[in-house]
Amino acid sequence: MKIEFYKHNIGEEEIEKVVEVLHSTFLTTGHVVYEFEDKFSHYLGCKYTIGVTSCTSALHLSLLAYNIGQGDEVMTTPMSFIATANAILHSGAKPVFVDVEPETGNIDANLIEKAITLRTKAIIPVHLYGQMCHMKKIKEIADKYGLKIIEDSAHCIEGMRENIKPGQLSDAACFSFYATKNITSGEGGAISTNNFEIAEKLRRLRLHGMTKEACERYVGKYQHWDMDILGWKYNMDNIQASLLLNQLEYIEERWKKREEICKRYEEAFKNIEKISFPKVLQNSKSARHLFTIWVSPQERDNILWNLQGKGIGVAVNFRPIHLMRFYRKEFGYKEGAFPVAESIGSKTMSLPTYPKLTDDEQKYIIDSVIKCISRKKRE
Ligand SMILES: *Cc1c(COP(=O)(O)O)cnc(C)c1O
Repeated sequence: MKIEFYKHNIGEEEIEKVVEVLHSTFLTTGHVVYEFEDKFSHYLGCKYTIGVTSCTSALHLSLLAYNIGQGDEVMTTPMSFIATANAILHSGAKPVFVDVEPETGNIDANLIEKAITLRTKAIIPVHLYGQMCHMKKIKEIADKYGLKIIEDSAHCIEGMRENIKPGQLSDAACFSFYATKNITSGEGGAISTNNFEIAEKLRRLRLHGMTKEACERYVGKYQHWDMDILGWKYNMDNIQASLLLNQLEYIEERWKKREEICKRYEEAFKNIEKISFPKVLQNSKSARHLFTIWVSPQERDNILWNLQGKGIGVAVNFRPIHLMRFYRKEFGYKEGAFPVAESIGSKTMSLPTYPKLTDDEQKYIIDSVIKCISRKKRE
């Protein structure tokens, strides 16, 4: 059997929509993007969405929009994809890591206050695997110290905790439509916010700081444009938006499929002594972006290779950021700095979790994992 780690859900309906755009005049940012932004805002219950090229650019622009940069510190966790910390560096600010909760891998809100300094300007909580961080508590701390909250919601479009969705308690929430994410345009991202001025500023920042987007310049009587701030070239285009529009229609249906798949994994592994997995809390709906299991760090890599040998696609999400060569060299981080994140990083592995995964395929994965757990060497 050959089981891909991820399969997207782009089908005839999405392809038709792309073809429609390709037959039209406007390929860059225009009405298809605006339609997607409106629908995405509506889905989240948020006022404004700004389509960009990636979650990395979404995080970068959000920091810039709140004037965070050189000389500032931004707090996040090392248990994320490198994009989170890299975006902080792109803004000119310094990433300051705090450790995560052992049960969820999310930022440990109890450790935030201790890490705040006079330079701290913002917190970037990462909703790991699709489960939201303790946003109420983070919001309390942020209010007390006058900090901004920018959510890394790359894993979490469909998630909710204590009836709060991404974007509702924060100053901006950043999403990814990268190739393996819950909805995808190959590459793509978005920022959602309830702040009108910031939304306007983000619209400028995503396109060089220009006062008019191409579509506005082109439609109707010619108008001169100006540039009042230095922006970037991060605008989402109509082709990307056309791929995303339809997937948004099916987002809950496909979430339910992933929820079923994850529940089946949990049921199958809950009594296996050598396997544990992150906990989905009672008051939380996980977006179920990834399903990861935790195994013995001594055996993890061999199990990965064994599963690959059996044709099963696997991944590691994530080895902690502070131990990447660049971060060690630049900031002097050493092993032991964030023990919980390091422990998760050494024992974690992600299994295929997507709506197209069949029952037979999942059964094969479960059987293979259980077999591999009791075997040590590569076959
Ligand atoms: C994928 C991912 C990103 C980056 O998303 P891009 O759209 O590829 O820039 C950021 N944070 C997390 C947690 C991710 O998994």
